[in-house]
Formats: sequence, C-alpha cells, structure tokens
Amino acid sequence: MRKKIVAGNWKMNLSLEEAQSLHSEINDALETSEFNCEVYHFVPSIYLSTLLESDQKVNVGSQNGYPAKNGAFTGEVSMSQLSGIGTKAVLIGHSERRQLFNESDILLKEKVDAALEEDLKVFFCCGETLEERESGQYKQTVIKQLKNSLFHLPSKEFAKIVIAYEPIWAIGTGKTASPEQANEMHKSIREAIEHAYTQEIAQNTSILYGGSCKPSNATELLNQSDIDGGLIGGASLKSEDFLKIIATYN
Ligand code: PEP
Repeated sequence: MRKKIVAGNWKMNLSLEEAQSLHSEINDALETSEFNCEVYHFVPSIYLSTLLESDQKVNVGSQNGYPAKNGAFTGEVSMSQLSGIGTKAVLIGHSERRQLFNESDILLKEKVDAALEEDLKVFFCCGETLEERESGQYKQTVIKQLKNSLFHLPSKEFAKIVIAYEPIWAIGTGKTASPEQANEMHKSIREAIEHAYTQEIAQNTSILYGGSCKPSNATELLNQSDIDGGLIGGASLKSEDFLKIIATYN
C-alpha cells in the first residue's frame, strides 16, 4: 500500500509568529482528528529550528538544501546542517528553484545524493511548462527530469523518494490540471519507474500532485488511482483549507 501524503509548501511566506501559529493549529487539529496520511510543512529555513521543537503530527521539512557539507557557499544551508538540527525532509527541484535560480538537473542530482546520505526524505519535484504541454512534449520533459536526477540511484535509495508532479502552468496560477491530465502523467511516471526499477518499486512510490490544489478540487484530484497525495502551496497557508485537503484521506 502506498503512503498517502499531504505536504504544504509555505514558500517565502509568513512571519515567525504566523508560522508558529499555523504549525500549531494544524498539529492541534490533527491531535484530535482521524487522518490517514503523512503531513509535512516545508518551511523557510530560518524557522526550521523553532518549528522542529514542536514537530508532532506534522513533519517539518526544508524547501531547499545545498549538496556540499560545508565550505565557501555564502547564503546556502547544507543537507548535513539540515539533518544536524533534526530536519526530516527536503524539497528538491521545485520549479521556482529550477526557473528563478537556474538549478540544473545535474545540481539536483547532487542534491538528491547529499540528502539521501543525510537520511533526509526527498520530495523530488518535476513538471512541464505550458509550452511543453501544448507542444505535446510534456511526458518526455518530465521523464527526462527523473532520468537525469533520480534514476542513477540504486533501488534501495530510490525506494525512499517521494515524487511531486507539478505542472508549472498550474503552480500559483489558479489553473489546475484536470484529474485526468494529472492521473495520466502520474501513470507515465509510474511506468518510467517500473522501467528503470521494478514493478514493486513503482507500485510503492508515492507520487503527489501539486498545482493550485485547494479544498474545492482536492477530493477529485487526490482520489485518482495514481495520485497519492498533494504538494500544496497557497492553500497550505490557511489552516482551514489545508485541514480540508488533509481530510480528503479521512
Ligand atoms: C507549489 O508551490 O508547490 C504549489 C503547488 O503551489 P500552489 O498550490 O499555490 O499552486
């Protein structure tokens, strides 16, 4: 049985006070309610230490991490520093990092290796642009991202990866992939994993959907046969909305 996962990506939002209160609201709500999925908050790195102290029902992860252990990389935080303070998970390859910070498949591969070495749970993001979708190149684009940064891993390591399919044209735009479009891509990703590894590994890999997922569309999207959860941006900033999305898996 694949794990169901709902993860919030807060991006560069919230004051420390707001972050603490959102994190504890979700933790408190989950203390008293039934939920059948793992829940994560990917938070700005400056808030990690504080939020890790109250890491209960909600796992706390970083939105980024640098592959080198230490050294002259001003402004960066290493995977080993993240794991040293108790961080559980890290997002790698978010489209905002690929596009705004020019992160290449090669750098992402190094990040994946470094994160696994530190026992961080890797949430690897992939997705196509609108142009690639419209030209029919969307499957090739996504599979290439996986091949270039993930498929070098030995089976034992690959089995620890969570994949988040996030069509770039759907992130923060209000445009959502239809449940059929999303599920089609998730199936293709699973086939590619089966091809690179085994059917068992493919069937056990959690593949999340991300891109303008909100309470009004979560039930349909997150219950598709090959969709195992959601990576949620905007809607994770409001406790009521995030809890409604988590409740999809009650
Ligand atoms: C994201 O940034 O990972 C994301 C899915 O954002 P949003 O839900 O706001 O589209």
